[in-house]
Amino acid sequence: NREIHLASRPQGWPTAENFRLVTTDVPTAADGQLVVRNLVMSVDPYMRGRMNDVKSYVPPFRLDAPLDGGAVGEVVESRADGFAPGDVVLHGLGWREYALLDAKAARKVDPTLAPVGAYLGVLGLTGLTAYAGLLEVGGMRAGETVFVSAAAGSVGSLVGQIAKLKGAARVVGSAGSPAKVERLRELGFDAAFDYHDAPVRDSLRAAAPDGIDVYFDNVGGDHLEAAIGALRPHGRAAICGMIAQYNDSEPPAAPRNLALVIGKQLTLRGFLVNSHNHLRDQFVTEMSGWLRDGRLHHDETVVDGIENAPEAFLGLLRGQNLGKMLVRL
Ligand code: NDP
Repeated sequence: NREIHLASRPQGWPTAENFRLVTTDVPTAADGQLVVRNLVMSVDPYMRGRMNDVKSYVPPFRLDAPLDGGAVGEVVESRADGFAPGDVVLHGLGWREYALLDAKAARKVDPTLAPVGAYLGVLGLTGLTAYAGLLEVGGMRAGETVFVSAAAGSVGSLVGQIAKLKGAARVVGSAGSPAKVERLRELGFDAAFDYHDAPVRDSLRAAAPDGIDVYFDNVGGDHLEAAIGALRPHGRAAICGMIAQYNDSEPPAAPRNLALVIGKQLTLRGFLVNSHNHLRDQFVTEMSGWLRDGRLHHDETVVDGIENAPEAFLGLLRGQNLGKMLVRL
């Protein structure tokens, strides 16, 4: 069994030296436990925060211990009722080839309904983040104009497509390369821009001259400032993530125009996907219907091998992914 440990805590941008590949024995199950051979694991931006030793909504990773996070694997040993070898389960002990789990922490998924990676992306937490964030937190209604940042990523690409499927009049996305901008147009975004080309404020004004009603924030900083400027009276922002500042050691310089929320009576609302589990059944039904009908696409960027998991994670922070970043084990 090989697993990735946190070797040291990064200051600023993490590097390969912050991780260590460690070989251990394959675990054996005690009563109520499962041993799972992981097939695929997720790398996610929130993991950067867990590398710091600070109190947050998820506890920090421990030094010299394996990292963890969403994974799907096959049960190879079961000492728990209701699970048998060959079952495929979703659980929270990624970053290792073999996971020892309490059966209570595992949920069976059906690998014949969707590829296993989908349970970590479009049909999993990132899909629910997009769905709940746009519709419940952002309260998007048909006929509105929506702007989403990190739009070619896992959450963002789904936000834009769900917005169109739910009748948004205009959907604008920003992303970090010409190829990503091109992909957004293929996915049905009405306008898309590369945020490196010009100040976000200018690009957004050109893409949505009449302003926006909903901003789905994955980035923070200058993107949030531009959105606050572009939001129409009573507009809403669903604050999902602020990836532009996850590696910063200094507080962000933007947004500088927060006072506009008063006059325009804006709502800026942060959220955590785990508080929206009540939407899960509705989300899975609706999302799988769109997938089946070919009305919704989900890109994946897949990296092979546990030894490459740190590089996959670092690549995610640098924007090397299109859609969901996964590691196949
Ligand atoms: P993505 O697939 O979107 O990958 C991250 C992307 O962020 C990169 O591909 C990169 O794309 C972009 N990015 C990186 N640095 C910057 C920067 N400085 N400015 C602009 N864009 C940048 O990841 P996810 O879909 O998993 O997550 C998207 C956001 O949602 C994150 O902020 C994450 O923390 C948040 N999140 C929040 C949840 C919640 O419960 N609140 C749950 C899940 C995710 P590019 O090439 O375009 O720069």
